[in-house]
Amino acid sequence: MSAKIIDGKAYAEGLRGRIAGAVRTLSEQGVTPGLAVVIVGEDPASQLYVKNKARQTVEVGMRSFEHVLPASTGEAELLELVARLNADPAVDGILVQLPLPKQIDAQKVIEAIDPTKDVDGFHPINAGRLMTGVPGLVSCTPLGCLLLAQSVRRDLAGLNAVVVGRSNIVGKPMAQLLIAQSCTVTVAHSKTRGLPEVCRSADILVAAVGRPEMVRGDWIKPGAIVIDVGINRVPNPAAGEGKTRVVGDVAFAEAAEVASAITPVPGGVGPMTIACLLRNTLEAACLRRGLTMPA
Ligand code: NDP
Repeated sequence: MSAKIIDGKAYAEGLRGRIAGAVRTLSEQGVTPGLAVVIVGEDPASQLYVKNKARQTVEVGMRSFEHVLPASTGEAELLELVARLNADPAVDGILVQLPLPKQIDAQKVIEAIDPTKDVDGFHPINAGRLMTGVPGLVSCTPLGCLLLAQSVRRDLAGLNAVVVGRSNIVGKPMAQLLIAQSCTVTVAHSKTRGLPEVCRSADILVAAVGRPEMVRGDWIKPGAIVIDVGINRVPNPAAGEGKTRVVGDVAFAEAAEVASAITPVPGGVGPMTIACLLRNTLEAACLRRGLTMPA
């Protein structure tokens, strides 16, 4: 194996430490950022994720407000809660955990969140700001990917970047962030022809597909930086019957032979998402009050 393994867990820990320092500085000015997380339904994986978010929010010195609603919650009721949170001065960031039950139109809920409190960066206003280069709140996962890529190479200008996946939450904002860094960006998806060849043109390859180990070692350009967003649960018979393990969208061992740097799964992009959510909450708290972000 020749690639440098990009330690997302360590990077996220460092980022949370810097956020905690900034929160202390803000608290001295009488401001304690607050993050409200709303979850509808009893999905155990989502509930665990929300618990983790709440714990890390408190650990960096922010206030955490959790709203756990039953799976039967109606759209009007959720919109009412969002309106209350929009109006609550103690709340700087609002995150509604997706997916939502089918009786609720997720897009309607996203668009109901005050864009200045939209710490997920999913509101069309924030997506538009990102596209037009106006400061705003940026989706947490792509932001985390960019920080990890820049931890290997500060200046990405002029590099060829390929993003595999075009979802609104990962692929598209990732592409916009890389354009803003002056990369030459190709966005690939399920209809892309000759995907291995397209990937081989990438100095930076971001895989956000949701297909276990789809990207093979011979799809990687020698020396490329590989960022693997995928989280896929696959059977792991070696650990016992019915056991599973998590793998990315990239065949890690093969890719690590060719790339110059690569994120592992788990321990790469995953830990960065919550850290970036906290960063966005801090930023939202500052922006709303016209304060500059403490360094
Ligand atoms: P989506 O399912 O919304 O999007 C997947 C994208 O991959 C689509 O654009 C789709 O193309 C494309 N795609 C699917 N199959 C292929 C294929 N065979 N070849 C090329 N492209 C393909 O997923 P998300 O963007 O939400 O998530 C992607 C992955 O990232 C998942 O594994 C998810 O679990 C993970 N994830 C991880 C996060 C983290 O914190 N680390 C956060 C968010 C997601 P098309 O548009 O044509 O259908």
